[in-house]
Amino acid sequence: MSKFWSPFVKALVPYVPGEQPKLTNLVKLNTNENPYGPSPKALAAMQAELNDNLRLYPDPNGERLKRAVADYYHVRPEQVFVGNGSDEVLAHVFHGLFQHGKPLLFPDVTYSFYPVYCGLYGIDYETIALDDRFQIEVADYARPNGGIIFPNPNAPTGCLLALEAIEQLLQANPDSVVVVDEAYIDFGGESAIALVDRYPNLLVTQTLSKSRSLAGLRVGLAVGHPDLIEALERIKNSFNSYPLDRIAIAGAAAAFEDRAYFEQTCQQVIASREAVTVAMQALGFEVLPSAANFIFARHPQHDAAALAAGLREHGVIVRHFKMGRIDQFLRISVGAPEQNQALLDALKRIG
Ligand code: PMP
Repeated sequence: MSKFWSPFVKALVPYVPGEQPKLTNLVKLNTNENPYGPSPKALAAMQAELNDNLRLYPDPNGERLKRAVADYYHVRPEQVFVGNGSDEVLAHVFHGLFQHGKPLLFPDVTYSFYPVYCGLYGIDYETIALDDRFQIEVADYARPNGGIIFPNPNAPTGCLLALEAIEQLLQANPDSVVVVDEAYIDFGGESAIALVDRYPNLLVTQTLSKSRSLAGLRVGLAVGHPDLIEALERIKNSFNSYPLDRIAIAGAAAAFEDRAYFEQTCQQVIASREAVTVAMQALGFEVLPSAANFIFARHPQHDAAALAAGLREHGVIVRHFKMGRIDQFLRISVGAPEQNQALLDALKRIG
């Protein structure tokens, strides 16, 4: 700890992202990346940008991407905000959209970046326990709050909350911003963007890191009422007027425009998830129902930390969270069929 650190910096507890190992022979199923790679049309759009335009500043408003998102979801571009990964979009949300003086509410098992942002921006929060099937129980959120946030499907459980339940939450909290973090929605859920025209307190965030296979490009977005989007633009423009570079705007817009590739690769991931689920159940695992590109599973006879270490010895990396209620679970990303087979083979050898 440096003597130059302020008490504020000393008190920060930063988020620790999943490991990005240098060894390429590992079967990497630890950070929910997409095994299929980005749309070829997105790659071509980025190459064209690289060849011709990097001398110029990007469009500070990312209009081309906003239009592509708006067309895809049948909303207006002024209902769309774009940022450098959904983590950055979420940072702006935490910075300015929640009321202070009342706690922000989120589930007790959820994306572990939320408490980190609360620490950074001085937001009080309360966690609400998931039920015994690891589901969000919306009735438990009927208490004073300065906002509500949860991923749908939830992370790292993969469990989906129905749109009707989200509507109940929105109706019960008309004075709070409710943020639905849809990082994994394209693998089996229905987007709450369908509700934004009816609920001015709803903000939906998404990422291009998972279903559009562009984790390395760092693009995320939010869709909601124009007033919420304008608030995010004000925050963003007080921080960095160019959150997205030219390559990111071009590649992300083209990825949204290439529906056929997106739909086909999502279907492949979903089919693999179901196949891995059945195979792991046959090996004695309990697997939570997942609507994401990962599964969350535990084995009644094997300790999760030991399993993760054993898998690593066999060249397969998965994620194990050493946290209370979930410390006997493994979160395993769905990979390409040969990666999934390597996982199953390794589990058979360990068990
Ligand atoms: N929300 C959730 C629930 C996530 O799991 C992730 C990925 N770690 C993100 C947001 C952030 O995604 P990105 O910054 O890559 O867009």
